[in-house]
Amino acid sequence: MFIDRATITVAAGDGGNGTVSFRREKYVPRGGPDGGNGGSGGDVIAAADPNVNTLLDFRHNREWKAEPGEAGRGRSQTGADGADRVIPMPAGTLIFDQDSGDLIRDLAPGERIVLARGGGGGLGNEHFKSSTNQTPREATPGEEGEVRELRLELKLIADIGLVGKPNAGKSTLLKALTRATPKIAAYPFTTLSPQLGIAEIENERRLVFADIPGLIEGAAEGVGLGHDFLRHIERTRALVHLLDAEPSDGSSPGANYDAIRKELFEYSPLLAEKPELIALNKIDLLGGTEGDAAIAADMLRAELVLPDDVPIFVVSGATGFGLSALLRACERLVAKAPADPTI
Ligand code: GDP
Ligand code: MG
Repeated sequence: MFIDRATITVAAGDGGNGTVSFRREKYVPRGGPDGGNGGSGGDVIAAADPNVNTLLDFRHNREWKAEPGEAGRGRSQTGADGADRVIPMPAGTLIFDQDSGDLIRDLAPGERIVLARGGGGGLGNEHFKSSTNQTPREATPGEEGEVRELRLELKLIADIGLVGKPNAGKSTLLKALTRATPKIAAYPFTTLSPQLGIAEIENERRLVFADIPGLIEGAAEGVGLGHDFLRHIERTRALVHLLDAEPSDGSSPGANYDAIRKELFEYSPLLAEKPELIALNKIDLLGGTEGDAAIAADMLRAELVLPDDVPIFVVSGATGFGLSALLRACERLVAKAPADPTI
């Protein structure tokens, strides 16, 4: 349902040309042919890479070229082969030929496939030597490397689902977390709602967040979001449960927490069992200093009767307070949570 798309051109390397050359040695007036063959052009190869989880990079890198083979040389030397170009892609990427529309491959974990084959090297004149032709002057050019236009599609699986009451600040938080990644800015998804956002962490690691609006409203009665959506969010690795520190309806964060947990369970026990981080939001309304944050967290901890080792992240989607700590915790959680075998 969330489809990440990109179009790229892959160009394999051309083969190197064969060479016409004759041996030149002192006192040997008419040396034989010694022009070598050209090297092969490099292939363009797709390789499933577990560190890549979106097609985002392909928005900037649309052309992927392998190196050409070198021309043959005299003294019967074959030209060097061109280096292959390996494109890291997420496992699960569907690779289509843009012209024919054919599915070339559904890239499996660990898989490598050749997308464009390099051209073969041309033949040097030495190759054409025969009993009837001792001084061939012909050589052939290298073959052209394959060039293809490809369409890539990936079903994007959210790592983290954001749950919370309406107005808890989920949309704002999603924007703030993904805006914290200046390289990305707006990322257009072909989806209406819910919204996905990609937060970039150091080392090119990315976390995909899904804002899950309307999970609760009418969800247990089967209204609300559809079956596909449920399946999608059931594949998230972890949840962030967002609580309004100062709900405008006068309710308490603790009561709202319990209400969402209960409805989550009715809606999807599978989802309810995911590892969860509690984030107390809109702390700016309560002052927004470290001291205010600690007091608010303690009050919530007491209200929910949470053990000391369950962290409460105090944040503000509006001011950015506490967001980097939350993001780091999300990353750790996702790293620990087992990958869903059904993906
Ligand atoms: P959602 O329904 O959970 O997606 O909540 P929204 O992100 O739409 O936010 C609901 C309201 O809370 C909006 O008026 C936001 O401007 C406001 N809001 C969201 N985050 C914060 C915050 O950190 N601090 C303050 N003061 N207001 C916030
Ligand atoms: Mg919203």
